[in-house]
Amino acid sequence: MPESVDTRFALYPGSFDPFTYGHLDILERALRLFERIEVTVAVNTGKEAGLFAPEERCELIRRCTHHMDGVSTTTFEGLLVDHARDQGAGVLLRGLRQVKDFDYEFRMAFANRKLHPDLETVFLMTSEQNAFVSSTIVRDVHRWGGDLSKFVPTPVAEALEAKREQS
Ligand code: ADP
Repeated sequence: MPESVDTRFALYPGSFDPFTYGHLDILERALRLFERIEVTVAVNTGKEAGLFAPEERCELIRRCTHHMDGVSTTTFEGLLVDHARDQGAGVLLRGLRQVKDFDYEFRMAFANRKLHPDLETVFLMTSEQNAFVSSTIVRDVHRWGGDLSKFVPTPVAEALEAKREQS
């Protein structure tokens, strides 16, 4: 018997350390397809501490998406399929930048399907101008004091600037 899931409700999981124009681009596209999207900031205790703490990442995402109806943001630690079940979400949303992303995404999507057969993974492609933007590049440019205004929305750029002044 298929599980009851809402296919108009998508989870958009990731590290978002920090949230970029690439992420925003995917969200804007996805809002044309889904009624509700939860940006799920994955808390990975195994990984070393990120640039921003998970709660800070959430707060920045909220500031970048406050004008978008239907978007919510939360942190989550654990198995994503369990969270999707609890929330009744029918879709996992992932973005694709380049062919290189595909191998990992393909394996994740199959693993998640084994764990939750009624949860569909949906991939969206970003626009060309955001295809090279990644959180890793943002962290590198930030480390060396470069201009980030083309990579991240203003609230994130300001938070990065404040971080630089602190350190
Ligand atoms: P993860 O840590 O799981 O790689 P990220 O925080 O980097 O997650 O990204 C979350 C999701 O957003 C992933 O599906 C990733 O492929 C996608 N994404 C990140 N940057 C871009 C971009 N520039 N264009 C399209 N999708 C992107």
